[in-house]
Amino acid sequence: MEKHKIVLIAGDGIGPEITEVVMEVLSAAGAQIEWIDQKAGVTALAGGFDVMPEETLEAVRQHRVALKGPCTTPVGEGFSSVNVRLRKELDLYAAVRPVRSLPGVETIFPDVDLVIIRENTEGLYSGVENEVTPGVVMSMKVATKKACSRIAKWAFRYATQRQRDKISVFHKANIMKMTDGLFIRCAQEVHRVDYPNIAYEEVIIDAGCMKLVQDPHQFDILLLENLYGDVVSDLCAGMVGGLGVVPGANIGDQCAVFEAVHGSAPDIAGQNLANPLALLMSSVMMLNYLSDQRHDSDARQIGARIKDAYNMALADGCKTRDLGGDLGTREFAEKVIERLD
Ligand code: NAD
Repeated sequence: MEKHKIVLIAGDGIGPEITEVVMEVLSAAGAQIEWIDQKAGVTALAGGFDVMPEETLEAVRQHRVALKGPCTTPVGEGFSSVNVRLRKELDLYAAVRPVRSLPGVETIFPDVDLVIIRENTEGLYSGVENEVTPGVVMSMKVATKKACSRIAKWAFRYATQRQRDKISVFHKANIMKMTDGLFIRCAQEVHRVDYPNIAYEEVIIDAGCMKLVQDPHQFDILLLENLYGDVVSDLCAGMVGGLGVVPGANIGDQCAVFEAVHGSAPDIAGQNLANPLALLMSSVMMLNYLSDQRHDSDARQIGARIKDAYNMALADGCKTRDLGGDLGTREFAEKVIERLD
């Protein structure tokens, strides 16, 4: 099998330190990858490039798969979000975020096993904002039948492939009757016509958040529009140990970009404190995707070995500070490498 050419976007803040050690774990596990380095975020800006250079987008279009560290987006300034642009330009419409309890990581609820599926291209992240008159600004929430239907189809197909039982749509269609109304109508139709075998429910999001923190076990797959998916992902991360342990994938029909749910964590950047696990887990999702898309069964096996190794490391008490341990980014990665069989 030839090496897979994968675009690597190290990103900002903790991005470079976590991507570096994740590449080392992948290499130690025998993953056949040639990395194509590309810039994005404030790192790109500082180098005189756009925050999301066209060259980076083109590289992902060409090679189809990327592993990405987090990128900082300056708040309230004239830059559009790096991440929103990447997802929209490459039409990475499905964000998939498995939220699972881990061995050795004590949390309030044991055995949490949720998957969040977030529509990634529209909603309030349409990026259409304007000043109506001085002192009055407006942000446009956009929903299209095309995007609502395709994310619903994607979610039900995923549920079928992964043998999951139930999809819960979190919404606010009682207030946003047109946008969220369209979102649930599309999900209802996909359920009724194509997947009546999978249980389906609609939950108003405020009550849904309460139910989640009371008992996450009553949910299986959560399907949400863009902003809700963003917020609920962090909420669910809090139930399994925090942002350091929740991976993600942004998937479209042509390309896929794998990245953790967390951001660039400027408060701990450059100090060897960040937990690299969420990005490492994202890289395992990437290996599984490569296996499915390119029929490379070795990639799946290598992913399974990495997963076993990090589970073993956690069970042995090897943890970074966010999980109550005292290991640095690099030391945790070394513990994982030691446990690769
Ligand atoms: P954040 O996720 O960066 O950090 C929130 C908290 O979690 C911080 O206390 C941080 O130290 C901690 N944390 C996050 N990741 C961690 C890890 N791997 N290990 C240990 N602790 C970790 O969120 P924020 O502070 O709101 O955002 C910072 C920047 O990141 C912003 O510019 C935001 O736009 C950007 N961001 C980028 C992405 C992305 O690139 N996909 C996602 C979210 C936020």
